[in-house]
Amino acid sequence: MEKHQDTYERKSNKEQGRKYRQRKRDMQKRLIKTFFTLLVMTGIGITAVVLIPKNDKGKVSGQGESLQTSAKPVDKEEESKDLGSQEPDVQKSQEKQDNVDEVRTAVITQADLLAAGYDYDSAIETVKSFEGYERDSELTAKITDYENRKATCVPVDIDKVTHVFYHSLVVDPELCFANQDTDPQAVGNNQWMTTIEEFNKITQTMYDEGYVLVDLHDMVKETTDENGNVHFEKGEIMLPPDKKAFVLSVDDLCYYHSYDGYGYASKMVLDENGKPKCEYIQRDGTTVVGDYDVVPLMNKFIEEHPDASYHGARGTIALTGYNGILGYRTDISYQTKPADMNADKLKWLEEHPDFSLDTERAEAKKVADAIKEQGWRFASHTWGHLKVGEASMERLRADTEKWKENVEPLVGSTDTIIFAHGQDLAEWTTGYTPDNEKYNYLKSQGFNYFCNVDSQQYAVQITDTYFRQGRRNLDGYRIYYNSIGEMDSLSDLFNASDVIDPKRPPVPRLN
Ligand SMILES: [Zn+2]
Repeated sequence: MEKHQDTYERKSNKEQGRKYRQRKRDMQKRLIKTFFTLLVMTGIGITAVVLIPKNDKGKVSGQGESLQTSAKPVDKEEESKDLGSQEPDVQKSQEKQDNVDEVRTAVITQADLLAAGYDYDSAIETVKSFEGYERDSELTAKITDYENRKATCVPVDIDKVTHVFYHSLVVDPELCFANQDTDPQAVGNNQWMTTIEEFNKITQTMYDEGYVLVDLHDMVKETTDENGNVHFEKGEIMLPPDKKAFVLSVDDLCYYHSYDGYGYASKMVLDENGKPKCEYIQRDGTTVVGDYDVVPLMNKFIEEHPDASYHGARGTIALTGYNGILGYRTDISYQTKPADMNADKLKWLEEHPDFSLDTERAEAKKVADAIKEQGWRFASHTWGHLKVGEASMERLRADTEKWKENVEPLVGSTDTIIFAHGQDLAEWTTGYTPDNEKYNYLKSQGFNYFCNVDSQQYAVQITDTYFRQGRRNLDGYRIYYNSIGEMDSLSDLFNASDVIDPKRPPVPRLN
C-alpha cells in the first residue's frame, strides 16, 4: 500500500513538473497554429520553428515537424507549368510578395499581442521567426521596443498579490433577489452573489487602477528534486512599475439544481467558433447563448484589453462534483440513483428521461477542454462541498476519491484545492505542519496549492512543500456593507458605492 502511494506520488509530482510549463506551451501552440494556418493559406515557405521555445522543442517536436513540413512552398508554379499556363512571371512574383507581406503582418500582430501581455521574450522570438527580419528596419525597431519595455519591468512583491473570487454571476437580479422577506435562498443569493453589472464595473475599475491578472502558479517557482519531490519558492512576476498583480478564482461553477429559476446561466456551452459561452434560459422560457458568467466575460475583456493579463493568464475554476460540473450532470449518482439521492436530482432525472451519463460527460469534457485552451485552470472544491476542518479523515478520503472518479477525468488532474465554506486544514499562523494528517493525505493525492477565504488584503504562505493563499470574496455582502460605509475591505480594489448594482436590495445581516 505504502509502495503504491509512493509510486503515485512520484508520478503525480512528475506530472506537475510537466504541467508547470504547460500554459506557456499551450499559448505557443495556439500561436503556432494561427501562424501555421496563415502559412498554409498563403503557401509560403518560411521557417518558423523559432516560435517554439528552445527548451520545449523536444516536447513539441510533433508540432515543429508538421510546421516545417507543411511550411514547404506549395508548388503552384509547377502546377501552372503542367497546365501550360501563360501567366507572366511578374504577376507570380507579385503574388508571392503579397503573401510574404501578409505573413509579416501576422507576425507583427502576434508579437504585439504577446508584448501587450508582458511576454517580451516570446514577442521577440516571434519577430525573429520571420526570415530576413535583420534587414527589415520596422522589425528590428519592434525588437528594440520590446527590449526597452522589458527593461522597465520590476519584480512584483509576491507577498502582496491579492486573490479575489466570485461565484456564478447573477444575470437577472430582479429574479434572483426577489422576496428577501420570505425566501431564504434569495437572501443567500443577495449575500454571496455578484451581478454581471457589478462584475463588469469591478473588472474595468481594477484594470484602470493597473491590476493585471496573473496565474496562481506564476507566484511560485516549482522544482522537482532527484527523488521526485516538489519544492516551492517565490516565483518571479515582472510587470511595469505602475501595474499590480492579482489572482482570480471562480467557485462552484457547476450550475447546481438549486440555481434553477433564480436568474443564473444554466450551463457552459461552446459557440459556433468553439469558444466557451453560457446558455441562459430567459423568463419566457427561451434559451440564449452569450457572455453570462465570469469565464466568457473575462475572456472578452482580455481580448479587448490584452494588457489585463500576464502571459495570457486566466483564473482558476473550483469545482465540486455532486451535481456534476459546468451544468452537465456528470456524477455517477445520476445513473446509479442511490437510496439517499437528493430530491432535486431525482426531479431533474424525471424531467430528463433521455439522460445519458456518457453524453453528459463527453459534453462536459469538450467544454472543459475549450476553457483550458484559453488559459483557465481547474481546481478541486471537494466533491461534496465539504467542511474540511470539521470532516473526519474517513470522510475526506471518501470525498476525495469521488472527486477523482467523477470530476478529474473531465477536467484533468489538478494540484490545486480551494476549500469550501472558507474552512482550512490549520490556522494561518501555524501553517501545515508535518503531523497534519489531512494535509499529508491531500498532499499524497497530488495537491500542492491550497486556498481558503480570508478578508485580509494579502495572505500568501509559501514554504518548501506547499503554496497557500487566502482569497477575498467580491460578493453582495461585502459590496453592500462597503457601499454604505459599514465595512472597509474593498477600497484598495474599487469604490463599492460606484459598482453596486442599483437592482440589489439591502443585504440582510449575517446572524
Ligand atoms: Zn463553494
